[in-house]
Amino acid sequence: MTDTSGYHGVELLLHPTTNKSTAFTLDERERLGLGGLLPAQVSTMERQIERVLENLRRKESDIERYIALRVLQDRNERLFYRTLIDHIDELMPLVYTPTVGQACREFAHIFRRPRGFYVTPRDRGKIRANLDNWPAHDVGVVVVTDGERILGLGDLGANGMGIPIGKLALYVACAGIPPDRCMPIMLDVGTNNATLRADPLYQGVTEPRLPEAPYDALVDELVTALVDKWPGVLIQFEDFLTPNAYRLLRRYRDEARCFNDDIQGTAAVALAGVYSGCRLAERRFAELRVLFLGAGSAATGIADLMVEAFVSEGLSRDEATARLAFVDIDGLLVKSRSDLAQHNLPYARDDAPMGFLEAIRHLEPHVLIGATGAPGTFTREAIEAMSTLNDRPMIFALSNPTSQAECTAEQAYRWSEGRAIFTSGSPFDPVEIDGHRFEPAQGNNVHIFPGVGLGVWASSARGVSDAMFLAAARALADSVRTERLERGAIYPALTEARRVSAAIAAAVAERAYDAGLAVSPRPADLDAHIASLVYDPSYDDPQPTPR
Ligand code: NAD
Repeated sequence: MTDTSGYHGVELLLHPTTNKSTAFTLDERERLGLGGLLPAQVSTMERQIERVLENLRRKESDIERYIALRVLQDRNERLFYRTLIDHIDELMPLVYTPTVGQACREFAHIFRRPRGFYVTPRDRGKIRANLDNWPAHDVGVVVVTDGERILGLGDLGANGMGIPIGKLALYVACAGIPPDRCMPIMLDVGTNNATLRADPLYQGVTEPRLPEAPYDALVDELVTALVDKWPGVLIQFEDFLTPNAYRLLRRYRDEARCFNDDIQGTAAVALAGVYSGCRLAERRFAELRVLFLGAGSAATGIADLMVEAFVSEGLSRDEATARLAFVDIDGLLVKSRSDLAQHNLPYARDDAPMGFLEAIRHLEPHVLIGATGAPGTFTREAIEAMSTLNDRPMIFALSNPTSQAECTAEQAYRWSEGRAIFTSGSPFDPVEIDGHRFEPAQGNNVHIFPGVGLGVWASSARGVSDAMFLAAARALADSVRTERLERGAIYPALTEARRVSAAIAAAVAERAYDAGLAVSPRPADLDAHIASLVYDPSYDDPQPTPR
């Protein structure tokens, strides 16, 4: 006799979607040909989770813990996701940043089993046929990288596959996208990293990266093949070099359901932080003036979405743009400067040239956003000047990793006499000053993208618009519990990720229905519809179909 998966006996133990291991009941062991194959005790899933955690905690390094979790994912999918969901605070830093950075660096060396789909120049003309080899029938979310700008680590070539794998684990854990709807893709177009190319264990294409024209042609073949195979698929571009990121986004945003997390996800998280900060400071968003330190891709992406946010509050585009000012390494972006990049031009001001501190005093911003990669640039004078201007200055030090942040959490709180509303791109521990405890929350993209993906799926939206990211940012800010806000955390706890993602999904889907972007009709009860889609791993489920 087989179970509903069609598997029997030892096959059930060898397949990650059917395996329950020691949790197979005595009756199942009898019926399914498992007699003699398992130890006497029948474990509950809770007991198995205890065993997983004990084994993880006794390991000596995070990379060993990462490997153990990947092996568990390959062995028993439901147990992996249940453990991740129930212990997200402990496990997310292992499954994703910061450990995933090291995992990518060593990816070829710690390789166990392939996971994900590979596209190389050798696959030209065959990508659509290769997609038929993928074991799942209904893929809904693809995360694709070309490995050229992995976190802050540069070109890691095919080792970048760790990123889509990790991000999709978070789609499952944080939003409940079913694992069989998720597909990690490595667009392996070679690498310019000579060390990797010389490494005998490296598994990717050992040629220099493709030039732009054949590169674009390969991306085009991939996107066309994906949309042909799964017309509703959402494509998330991840960790591409900035010029490629913008070019691909412009090329596909009106043609496919796609977004770039580094540009749009980051912007939505920062905007949500400003919305939450407004709740805490009791300020109207529409009144704000924002000063950016750094005028690169991160700051510009955030500013572009903020313009949309101001426009949605009734400001004209010119008024919205004028609320945002930038200081880069050469000072305030002003029209008289001749060194400005294309993306800086809309934000160049009529003012005289000036430095950062002078710009704070002259422009009187309510929010300071740092995206410089230059630690220590939010100086004591700068934060004191912000605190003179504002009861509750918003100080966002977004540069990663923690060592590069424009200021530390402690500096922001201390120099503002405890009044700063602070967040950062990388985590800071809670800070205690004069008996008062501050618990800053990290502005992590994981707060946004899983919910956006769920909302796009729920509404079968034809595309992902800026308005959907605005709605996601607003929903994220509204999800922060007042008690957390009062402790200084402007983002929700990760343990609330599923509740928050469902709220974001509903907001995103509503926006899709309103804009006529949704393919499926608006359900009578949207929340119930979203809840019905969510994967909640348990052994009580009917056996999943094997892939
Ligand atoms: P970039 O190289 O495109 O831009 C850097 C900008 O900072 C430039 O305008 C440069 O002139 C300016 N700058 C550098 N040193 C400065 C200084 N001492 N004073 C004033 N300005 C200075 O880089 P990017 O891609 O925009 O990334 C910038 C930072 O943002 C990185 O550290 C990255 O970690 C961070 N980032 C954070 C997130 C997040 O979600 N937290 C997302 C993306 C990027």
